Amino acid sequence: MSSNMMVTNTDEIYIVALHRTFKIKVLHLIKDLNDRLDCVVTTRTKDITHIVNITFSTNLTETTVQEIINRLNKGEMNELFHSFNINQLLTTYMTSSIIDTQATSVCLKPFTKECIGCNKDLDVIFNQYVTIYELDKIIKGGIYYSKCNICRRKFYPNYFERCTNGKRFVTPHCLYNQEYIYFGGKKAYSTKLLIHFTSLFLRQYSGFENFENSFNLSLKKYANLNLNKDMVSINIDYPRNLHIFPFIFALMN
Ligand SMILES: [Zn+2]
Repeated sequence: MSSNMMVTNTDEIYIVALHRTFKIKVLHLIKDLNDRLDCVVTTRTKDITHIVNITFSTNLTETTVQEIINRLNKGEMNELFHSFNINQLLTTYMTSSIIDTQATSVCLKPFTKECIGCNKDLDVIFNQYVTIYELDKIIKGGIYYSKCNICRRKFYPNYFERCTNGKRFVTPHCLYNQEYIYFGGKKAYSTKLLIHFTSLFLRQYSGFENFENSFNLSLKKYANLNLNKDMVSINIDYPRNLHIFPFIFALMN
């Protein structure tokens, strides 16, 4: 390819001219906000202008932003931005039976990036797939661990293990600021789900079995409501027994 490549393509000229006037990242944010904010919101142009100006320290006027929105709505910039639903794309890809991939939407990694004994930086290694229970869905997740050969310890998302005797340890540091809780086996739980259960347990006196039945019923109802069933579940059986719940509950309180 010539280093003096001439810009002759109409699309390219359009993009270069556009980028000289407005940075592409500014247009991208306006597009995302335009897609997100419902058109019934009467202050939406003013809102979008404020958000963009605050985010990028720009000084765009509402008139300019409205002009960009008009052009976006007319499809003038269709070649600049894709219009795919990323969650849908990833779900379809990851649940395909003919694609060999380790990709999961949630990757549960060791609670520490360095060994707690010798401070050595550790590599993250794929361990296994697990079922993750969230507030409103069940998804497939990946568990990752790291190992310190000097201290002979393995580090998992919420515990560490001594390689010499297989003993597992949980400290407050293992649980602090974690979105998910995993203590081994094939199941992990979102912290929000555990907090939700704790609140029901304390304020509505819901037992583990009642909560499990209520959780399963909610998931079935969500699946019926959602036109795209793939987004709700990934063909995992609903849990018959959230038996690890009492243990985690005791730890978190
Ligand atoms: Zn170490």
